[in-house]
Amino acid sequence: MTTAVVCDLDGVLYLHDRPVPRAREALESLAAAGVRLVFATNNSTKTPERVAADLHRRVGFRADPATIATSAMATAAFLAPSAPRPYVLGAEGLVVSLRREGIEPAETPAMADAVVVGLDPALTYRRLAEAVLAIGAGATFVATGTDPTYPTPEGLYPGTGAIVAAIRVATEVAPVVCGKPHPPMVGLVRRLVGDADVVWVVGDRPETDLAMAKAAGWAGILVLSGVTDDVSQVPVDLRPEVVVPSIADVPAVVLGGGAG
Ligand SMILES: [Mg+2]
Repeated sequence: MTTAVVCDLDGVLYLHDRPVPRAREALESLAAAGVRLVFATNNSTKTPERVAADLHRRVGFRADPATIATSAMATAAFLAPSAPRPYVLGAEGLVVSLRREGIEPAETPAMADAVVVGLDPALTYRRLAEAVLAIGAGATFVATGTDPTYPTPEGLYPGTGAIVAAIRVATEVAPVVCGKPHPPMVGLVRRLVGDADVVWVVGDRPETDLAMAKAAGWAGILVLSGVTDDVSQVPVDLRPEVVVPSIADVPAVVLGGGAG
């Protein structure tokens, strides 16, 4: 019997740049027991190779980039069949993911039949206005995710959802959303999970990680090391199968009582 663990990154394996204690040992014991590890993140700014490098630098665990699913990759996979010319608000991870699916970003909004929005640290008011104009002219509005914030050492920064909300308010158009827990990401993760008989999703954010588990019919493990530190904060319909303090407790759950 094959077991897979789909693991979120920030808040589960590391907090900003700091590893969660015993995260490396937990991943190594799962891998040694033959568990198929998949990493799924709504961070659209990085390529999977960069995600793997950051995971190794922060946690000490070497993941194959082919086991990593990002919201940028899910967005590119969603768009690929319609072969659009998108105007892109986003960082390198999004642009590279689109090009790997044969999608070349439009240089000007007038050429665009889609507007794709991810987290864009170089966002300007001008580019926000161009995105709004393109959607107003009929371009499809697609977002990598709607996470309102993300944690930094300074506190919460505006996330992709904050940028998406600005465009949504101005256009009165709702985007197609591709990251966790939406179907494009579920489909991408399902391909990486393959034929595993049992799938666990480990995450710290109920509305993305646990909602993906529910959407896919997988079991959810909530860790209290990230954005959620009290299970009473979790909406009833997203309650997970298991709640543990951190990733260090996951091998005992997944491997059935043996801590590996
Ligand atoms: Mg997280």
